Amino acid sequence: MTQHHCRHCGAPLSHIFADLGFAPPSNAYRAPEDLNRPETTFPLRVRVCDQCFLVQTEDFTDAETLFSADYAYFSSTSKGWLAHAASYCAMVTDRFGLDGSSFVVELASNDGYLLKNFVAEQVHCLGIEPTARAAAAAEACGVPTLQRFFGKELGVSLAAEGGGADLIIGNNVYAHVPDINDFTSGIAALLKPQGVVTLEFPHLMRLVEFTQFDTIYHEHFSYLSLSTVAKIFARCGLRIFDVEELPTHGGSLRVFGCFAGADHATAASVNRILSEEISRGMQGINFYTGFQPRIEAQKNAALQFLLDLRKDGKTVAGYGAAAKGNTFLNYAGIKRDLLPFVCDAAPAKQGRLLPGSHIPIFSPDVLTETRPDYVVVLPWNIAAEVRFQLSDLVDTGTRVVTLMPEVKVH
Ligand SMILES: [Zn+2]
Repeated sequence: MTQHHCRHCGAPLSHIFADLGFAPPSNAYRAPEDLNRPETTFPLRVRVCDQCFLVQTEDFTDAETLFSADYAYFSSTSKGWLAHAASYCAMVTDRFGLDGSSFVVELASNDGYLLKNFVAEQVHCLGIEPTARAAAAAEACGVPTLQRFFGKELGVSLAAEGGGADLIIGNNVYAHVPDINDFTSGIAALLKPQGVVTLEFPHLMRLVEFTQFDTIYHEHFSYLSLSTVAKIFARCGLRIFDVEELPTHGGSLRVFGCFAGADHATAASVNRILSEEISRGMQGINFYTGFQPRIEAQKNAALQFLLDLRKDGKTVAGYGAAAKGNTFLNYAGIKRDLLPFVCDAAPAKQGRLLPGSHIPIFSPDVLTETRPDYVVVLPWNIAAEVRFQLSDLVDTGTRVVTLMPEVKVH
């Protein structure tokens, strides 16, 4: 068996956190004509380091193939995200006094949905986005964007070219980078001496608390606690001076970082959350190794619910062709017999098939035409938004349900 080592501290990884079998990359949507070609799957197994407690996917020999898939996600398709981004921009502009002389960099800036708020306020900004289509979409709406992966090398060269950044933003990217040490080094290289970095990522404490195993997928390399992020920051000379808990993705953290010697005073929230992590056992290996049996119980409950609907002759459709839905569907072995189709508002996904399960993706208009008895919202974190969008169907008897983190009718 291959010996795996921790991506942060290098210790051997001998403990399994979650084993979800084999799955294709969660964003590798397929065209119908691809079905007579083989589909590549990778083990979806997550380990935990018993030294620094970084929870991490196993390494693959060709991890880059995961990112060669035609990545179909555009942030701007979710109204909730747009509002989240706008309120974040207003908050940091006010708190850190950003103005026309400031330089803001966003890592994994997608289609510019966040930075366009700064462009509107004449704050100098730059997006770093590796995906060609998203980067082009950002440029098209006036957001300066560099189509690159971010790491130490790029951080050093950007700082040398244009001076350091007053603010570096990483929303839902920190958990997605393969080399988290190199990425953090890049942040330290690009940050001005009094600059601030904010990172948002799902909080591992909530993932375990609510058995959110469907947030595990290959492109999600790390599952992070505040204490582990503090260790990774410290290695690069950074410290966390504030942290907020957010409801996004079932419970996320927004950490505020700066250089160890910078003036930013440390808020009480940092020690409060570190203490809560300790009190829940996150500095002991049993916290992590006890997760797999809970995953299996949750999967069985969700599968039973769908089997019961099938037995009762109910019609079912899915909503939201998101990565987390694919983890869940593939691990549970759900195919078209239990979930005939999934609707998604993103035109780039319509007409394609979900990876692994090969469930077809249609426009949400199909829900209005077919009026199913149940609509299963796969990205359960936006269930309230979807229920509102489908209020016309709900009024005539359609039930909006989520299967994760528990079976729930909304
Ligand atoms: Zn480690």
